[in-house]
Amino acid sequence: MNPAAGFRAVFGAEPAGVWAAPGRVNLIGEHTDYNDGHVLPIALPHRTRVAAAARGDGLLRLHSAGAGGGVTALRVAGLAPGAVRGWAAYPAGVVWALREAGLAVGGADLHVESDVPQGAGLSSSAALEIATALAVTELHGHRPSRAELAALARHAENAFVGVPCGIMDQTASACSVAGHALHLDTRDLTLRHLPFDPAAHGLRLLVADVGRRHALADGAYAARRAACEAGARALGVRALRDVEAAQLPDALAALRPELRPVVRHVVTENERVARVAALLAAGELRAAGPLLTAGHASLRDDFAVSCPELDLVVTAARAAGALGARMTGGGFGGSAIVLVEEDRAAGVERAVADAFASARFTAPAVFPVTAGEGAGRHGEGGRPPAEAGPFSPSGQGT
Ligand code: ADP
Ligand code: MG
Repeated sequence: MNPAAGFRAVFGAEPAGVWAAPGRVNLIGEHTDYNDGHVLPIALPHRTRVAAAARGDGLLRLHSAGAGGGVTALRVAGLAPGAVRGWAAYPAGVVWALREAGLAVGGADLHVESDVPQGAGLSSSAALEIATALAVTELHGHRPSRAELAALARHAENAFVGVPCGIMDQTASACSVAGHALHLDTRDLTLRHLPFDPAAHGLRLLVADVGRRHALADGAYAARRAACEAGARALGVRALRDVEAAQLPDALAALRPELRPVVRHVVTENERVARVAALLAAGELRAAGPLLTAGHASLRDDFAVSCPELDLVVTAARAAGALGARMTGGGFGGSAIVLVEEDRAAGVERAVADAFASARFTAPAVFPVTAGEGAGRHGEGGRPPAEAGPFSPSGQGT
């Protein structure tokens, strides 16, 4: 259903507008964002749309077509970390974070529709946060920059929902430009929009959602973060991003053996981001393939966050002639990406499906993606109205 019609059906009134924000896939730069490192995501064409209207009585009423249950009603003034459970914590947390930051945000009715798969490593959580943040700030007459919105949404996910994510997902959703990847330095938050248009190179980027749902909030993620921090402490640097690839052999020799693979992944991954970014800037997308595959090997062997399904996508796709493939997102399930020549894409899709059938894994959902547009206000049909215009590729915010 279109979000405005959904809003009318749930709340019996017209929404003031519809705001939308995309999910993302990360091309390269995994588990680097909490090491002050570099990431290179693209926004997906898949979007979360929030139809919304302001309320004068301080109530926040939340409904999602993609969640079971009816309307959740909360008092905006009573929002506090730990007070809201389930999916409603994401939008409620955003409202809480905006108010914490001193933005006068009052009550609202929100109806959510989305085609971003949930829990697939494609960042449906950030899409929901950013669409909500845009909706409620505009409803209440505020226009924070995109970078500020991303930081507030991340704070909401960390402090209100309780997921210790980095800044990548929210920045990709808030700040991306269609047809471009976003090269983000997570230390100083500078960003560059680099051309990413596989079709223009006769290529295709496939996403394979392997069906196994990751649980980012679980202990494995916290353990990797702790190991990274221990590595940085042992090396006397502020964060692992401060270790250059050329210093890696010496750094590894100085570390306890159990910290070495974790540090090696982060340092080599930052280097891979720099190399892929340089290739995109030079228009040499094809040459990025082997770096994606090397990134997967590092996540599988050194960082140990892959799983058999993700490994199988990579091996099957590579055997069928893909240029490169890797898991994307936090790992332990979720999705993989495959870079492939257009005329080999169908063969790769078949090979992956066959390999999953042989292994008796649930069939993955494989689909091509392009680099979508970042968040914005949308017309009823979900298309940006003319006056919204694309987000400026040159600046950091509006
Ligand atoms: P990912 O961000 O990779 O999809 P997360 O576990 O970070 O996975 O976020 C998924 C959670 O976000 C869901 O379990 C749900 O609570 C919430 N969520 C995301 N999209 C929606 C939606 N359209 N409606 C309701 N809740 C959503
Ligand atoms: Mg998420």
